[in-house]
Amino acid sequence: MLKKIIEEEHIQKAKKYVEKGDSFLIVTHVAPDGDALGSSLGLLHFLNECGKDKVSVLTPNNFPAYYKWMPGAKDIVIHEKYPEFAEQLINESDVIFCLDFNEPHRVGKLSETLLAAGGRKVMIDHHPDPAGFCRVTMSYPGISSTCEMIFRFICRMGMFDLINKPAAECIYTGMMTDTGAFTYNSNHPETYTIIGELIKKGIDKDLIYRKVYQVYSESRIRMMGYALYEKMKVYPRRRTALITLSQEELKRFHYTTGDTEGFVNLPLSINGIEFAVFIREDLDFIKVSLRSTGDFPCNEFARRYFNGGGHRNASGGEFYGPLPEAVAMFEKGLSELNPEKELGKHV
Ligand code: 5GP
Ligand code: MN
Repeated sequence: MLKKIIEEEHIQKAKKYVEKGDSFLIVTHVAPDGDALGSSLGLLHFLNECGKDKVSVLTPNNFPAYYKWMPGAKDIVIHEKYPEFAEQLINESDVIFCLDFNEPHRVGKLSETLLAAGGRKVMIDHHPDPAGFCRVTMSYPGISSTCEMIFRFICRMGMFDLINKPAAECIYTGMMTDTGAFTYNSNHPETYTIIGELIKKGIDKDLIYRKVYQVYSESRIRMMGYALYEKMKVYPRRRTALITLSQEELKRFHYTTGDTEGFVNLPLSINGIEFAVFIREDLDFIKVSLRSTGDFPCNEFARRYFNGGGHRNASGGEFYGPLPEAVAMFEKGLSELNPEKELGKHV
């Protein structure tokens, strides 16, 4: 039996919404990752098993091709593609689950419609400092993925039997991707109790790993080599490394959504590097990804310099301006936040 982490009052309130609701919408954040998609689709399959047939999953924009195999992924409504239908779903659903995000602006252009919608909103998430825009907020940063939160939520409602194989596959996917295939944030013994239960539901965890991590294009792998060989700058004294890729470089390697996923983590395999930043020049803004090991709060760095946030060890933000200015902002942050002092504590 798992420890009761989610407050009973939240479970009971959300359970009532599940039982009484007729139409459901599940919304997740922009640039949805494995956890965003896994938790959303996991909950979709569960609700379907409960006999609910009006359930939709909505993402603000598209997601990487290596998540398209997930059961239910083909029916996800993408706001960028179908804005009117998406807004209609938000306005007309009885219950709206907000998964894997803690602030309305994380759904991009959908935020105003979401805030104004009359449906009962339930947040299930694991980012720190959740904003209070939902009737029920289940947010526990100590839990390493929203997928794990979904599993716990369903079990606590006494509905473990309604987790079918497709739901289990989706839940496992997010648990795997939010922990870098169980290489960080993954020391909680109950995580493995849950994985055991998912395997009993019939998932093939090794196959899921291959479907997510071993389906890259040749050009993506070459771009990774280029980024490491030519574009990685190491700041040894600060235990930090930076990788940047410009729009022109992305084009050279036929970049498509998801191709740079994981690049930010690569410098952390260098002995002595504990803070890694990846800056990518997108079409309309500059995307910044930050990762750290140990105590250095990269969410604080993201908040101060890149208008972002996230987890202590994995966060992100944005920059509006030319790429060299984003790099200058990063270097300013490095000198001000002084990771030299913060980092290296664990050596
Ligand atoms: P990634 O670098 O993979 O895009 O994001 C890592 C984590 O940082 C995400 O799980 C999310 O928690 C957070 N994050 C990424 N981008 C943003 C952003 O623009 N704003 C905020 N508040 N958090 C972000
Ligand atoms: Mn997550």
